[in-house]
Amino acid sequence: MRSPLKISIREIQKHDGMELETRLEPREISWEDDAGARLTEPFALQMEFSVGTDNILAQGEVEGSWELECSRCLEKFQAHFKLPVEGIFAFTQQTIDMAEEIRQGIVLLIPPKPLCRAGCQGLCSNCGANKNRAPCPCRPQPPSRFQKLSRPKKLRDLPCS
Ligand SMILES: [Zn+2]
Ligand SMILES: [Zn+2]
Repeated sequence: MRSPLKISIREIQKHDGMELETRLEPREISWEDDAGARLTEPFALQMEFSVGTDNILAQGEVEGSWELECSRCLEKFQAHFKLPVEGIFAFTQQTIDMAEEIRQGIVLLIPPKPLCRAGCQGLCSNCGANKNRAPCPCRPQPPSRFQKLSRPKKLRDLPCS
């Protein structure tokens, strides 16, 4: 199958530029879900190629949705992504292949600590329950005399109440 991401530079020169608008399957950019995000559906690509003195400038963006895993409660959730894509290709290359550019751009966009929502309560450190769903029966431990000396913990680190 011919990839829409492989474009002949001669073709772009002939038309003095080119626009590309398409939807891409994750496999068309050789996407692997173990990069930290699952691409669940085709995503949109919009590109514009312009002809410079000795190269082609490609500018555009990709937009779609992916599935991430919350770093606090470990639930999977859907989120939206949008990313500018850019590349410069010398005339001598003959063919432009945007797939690798796009794949690397999306990988860099994956948040290191995804959150399913701003105030995610995470999992109880005692019983492992997801505190977003229901309060668990655990009680905060009475502070020991050592803990009293240390600075107060951040809210999310406290045992659930
Ligand atoms: Zn969460
Ligand atoms: Zn608990």
